[in-house]
Amino acid sequence: MSKRDYYEVLGVSKNASQDDIKRAYRKLARQYHPDVNKEDPGSAEKFKEVSEAYDVLSDADKRARYDQFGHQATGADAAGFGGAGGSPFGDFSGFGDIFDMFFGGKTGRGPQRGSDLEYELEIDFEDAAFGVEEDIQVPRTETCGTCGGTGARPGTDTRKCTSCNGTGEQQSVVNTPFGRMVNRRPCSVCHGRGVIIEHLCRDCAGQGKKRVRRTMTIKVPPGVDTGNRLRMPGAGENSPDGGQPGDLHIVIRVREHDIFERDGLNVIVDVPITFVQAALGDEIEVPTLDGQVKLRIPEGTQTGTSFRIRGKGIPKLGSQTQRGDEHVRVHVQTPTSLNERGRELLRELGKELGVSTTEQSKTFVERMKSFLSNA
Ligand SMILES: [Zn+2]
Ligand SMILES: [Zn+2]
Repeated sequence: MSKRDYYEVLGVSKNASQDDIKRAYRKLARQYHPDVNKEDPGSAEKFKEVSEAYDVLSDADKRARYDQFGHQATGADAAGFGGAGGSPFGDFSGFGDIFDMFFGGKTGRGPQRGSDLEYELEIDFEDAAFGVEEDIQVPRTETCGTCGGTGARPGTDTRKCTSCNGTGEQQSVVNTPFGRMVNRRPCSVCHGRGVIIEHLCRDCAGQGKKRVRRTMTIKVPPGVDTGNRLRMPGAGENSPDGGQPGDLHIVIRVREHDIFERDGLNVIVDVPITFVQAALGDEIEVPTLDGQVKLRIPEGTQTGTSFRIRGKGIPKLGSQTQRGDEHVRVHVQTPTSLNERGRELLRELGKELGVSTTEQSKTFVERMKSFLSNA
């Protein structure tokens, strides 16, 4: 049986635009849809014919081949349009296409989105507090520049895949409650390329794409902490078929600091003082994220006492004004290398303290006596 000309089937001219073709197809598909034409046995056949014509004319490559070579070149003949059956529910994507078409959505399934990438970025304590710009190298897949994505060594020939007639697709026909649907999958012989490559591109081993390291500048905002994630839309993997690229997720890891510790928005720092400073009081210099500041240690300070310096902590992420505090914990150091005069002075001091025992140590002595007598 000889096929009707596809343009004639859709009722459009040879130089019709893609929009004209789509419009003509929608109109005819509605008209001949088997679901709305149960009483007309010829409509299913018409619907099939219209779908096949649209399948070819809506695809620029297939249309060009059809214009040049006629029906033989489209692959529809080879697949045998009235041929193979199949499960009516075998291909849900086919359903999707039909539904999209009838309910005004997109025709065909959309291109695939590229994958998301994750990158762990280690930054310094101070940079986490105040923000930083870091250059990072993100490995991702890009089109091979040597072969331009074809996978063939430059200057070598490729030949058309005879299995799919250069379309890169294998078609089969599936029966659904809506009529017969064309099911397409990548050609297994040429892996969807449509061509057989004789000499593979050395740079990408015929893949047409390569792993490359792309340098990106990342702006880390003030106040981030380990585990925070920054999303860079569109900086992930490229789509394999021209869709949206994926996102890049930067996962923050903050390096430990030699003197500062972090507790939420607060910074904790341990500072040693001498027992003379602790006993008499002193003004000491302590480090903060903003440089050295003076801190007044009162007379009689005990080891482990914590002093708060307001507003010297970590800026709150996303806030211009809010900031935590710094907590300075003092540690009283016992002298270790006394000379004879030092020892003499301490003995004298000991005698002096012996006669004026503090209230605290009196209480402790009472408790110890009670503990020993009960044992
Ligand atoms: Zn290449
Ligand atoms: Zn092929």
